[in-house]
Amino acid sequence: MLDKRKFYIDGAWVTPAAARDHAVIDPSTEEACAVISLGDQADTDRAVAAARAALPGWRATPPAERIALVERLIAVYTRRIDEMAEAISLEMGAPIDFALREQAGAGTWHMTNFVNAAKDFLWIHPLGDGTPGAMISYEPVGVVGLITPWNWPMNQVTLKVTPALIAGCTMVLKPSEEAPLSSMLFAEFIDEAGIPAGVFNLVNGDGMGVGTQLSGHPDIEMISFTGSTRAGKAISKTAAETLKRVCLELGGKGANIVFADADDDAVRRGVVHMMENTGQSCNAPSRMLVERPAYDRALEIAKATAEGIRVASGHEAGDHIGPVINQSQFDKIQGLIAAGIKEGATLLTGGLGRPEGLNKGYFVRPTVFADCTPDMTIMREEIFGPVLSIMPFDTEEEALRIANDTPYGLTNYVQSQDGAKVNRVLRAFHSGMAVANGQSRGAGAPFGGVSASGRAREGGRWGIEEFCDSKSIGGWVD
Ligand code: NAD
Repeated sequence: MLDKRKFYIDGAWVTPAAARDHAVIDPSTEEACAVISLGDQADTDRAVAAARAALPGWRATPPAERIALVERLIAVYTRRIDEMAEAISLEMGAPIDFALREQAGAGTWHMTNFVNAAKDFLWIHPLGDGTPGAMISYEPVGVVGLITPWNWPMNQVTLKVTPALIAGCTMVLKPSEEAPLSSMLFAEFIDEAGIPAGVFNLVNGDGMGVGTQLSGHPDIEMISFTGSTRAGKAISKTAAETLKRVCLELGGKGANIVFADADDDAVRRGVVHMMENTGQSCNAPSRMLVERPAYDRALEIAKATAEGIRVASGHEAGDHIGPVINQSQFDKIQGLIAAGIKEGATLLTGGLGRPEGLNKGYFVRPTVFADCTPDMTIMREEIFGPVLSIMPFDTEEEALRIANDTPYGLTNYVQSQDGAKVNRVLRAFHSGMAVANGQSRGAGAPFGGVSASGRAREGGRWGIEEFCDSKSIGGWVD
């Protein structure tokens, strides 16, 4: 078992103030694979003090130098990406090939996109014509607290750390206590890249401890958080006392509207997307709405596709899906599958219990429900497991009404070969992201939602702006 009882503070690995051990569980085996320490107030204060001390030097470092250091970080990350994939696979169960290609790969992708955006970023520019001497500048927010979840660990860490570094902020990262190993490795990369001491600090801990301490800390100016809507609300309340900026990336309940004129691969693609990462993605297309003439055929395809998805250990090579993160998520998913059955949805495939032959590990059967109705629990709650809910619709208006009838608003999807209809629906979705026909958002596009999904915009220029205060200047001398 790995002993990881240390924090990265002020450019060095330090011993935690108190002995509060926490086991990291390998979801593929249910065995403890590492022990970390949960920090307490003294650790949080020490990390925040280091970040505060490093702030004047880092904010005064020219952006080009900060960007050059991020480029060195990318080089280290790229060289050691296999280690990163191993860490992610171990801590959260992603199959090793997926962990390398998608999970660890997301880190390289985001960091590179940020560097590209930063090279074009105007740190100061005129307000406009006819207002001589009036300028707008972008200044670093200051010391920031970064709190991340376990489901896409490096995706979320790089979406926060990179723009904070580029903007000139100093920071304390608290990764999820469920999946801290990848972030500890990332701290090694930061060290190796030569990021100055105190600019980046890492303290492990849980939400009630370090998470709350960061959210309420008087010397922190901003919290950037990704995780559940529940924790997002708690953080907002705690942060209100010190009037922090709070950027929230929260849950989702994405709709995927499949019109009868969709391409032949649309349903299969939607099922595969739903099951990817074992359904543990906030932007998963978890509600499939199918236009009635295409409905019966869609159910056949969905059933066959889900039955073709293999479930196995994260340590095995291959294109299967792995376990879910922990016992409580396993139990929650089982409860929601049971609710789907009880409330009268048709179980097309999957269902309760583990897949055949897998008796240990938090493995869930890829599950598809048909004939769902908008009021069912499985259509309303974020399941965060490999469970797809399908229902028919008759008109575009009805499909949009159902799609938007959710407290969430992260990503919605539409499948059709009618361009005018596609564009109409993309604009009508109440969500931060809207995607058609299996395309992806462009490199450097912002990721974020509306309403209960939070309103952060992470990625590219928008992601850098989140870590800046705009300053309105008058009397600028040319
Ligand atoms: P979680 O909210 O329980 O935990 C996320 C992080 O917040 C962890 O580091 C945790 O320790 C910390 N935390 C928990 N309670 C806290 C509190 N009261 N104060 C401060 N910090 C606290 O979520 P999770 O179970 O780790 O992640 C799954 C959730 O994250 C899902 O709901 C998912 O949809 C959401 N998510 C959203 C996005 C997005 O970009 N919108 C991306 C990934 C995951």
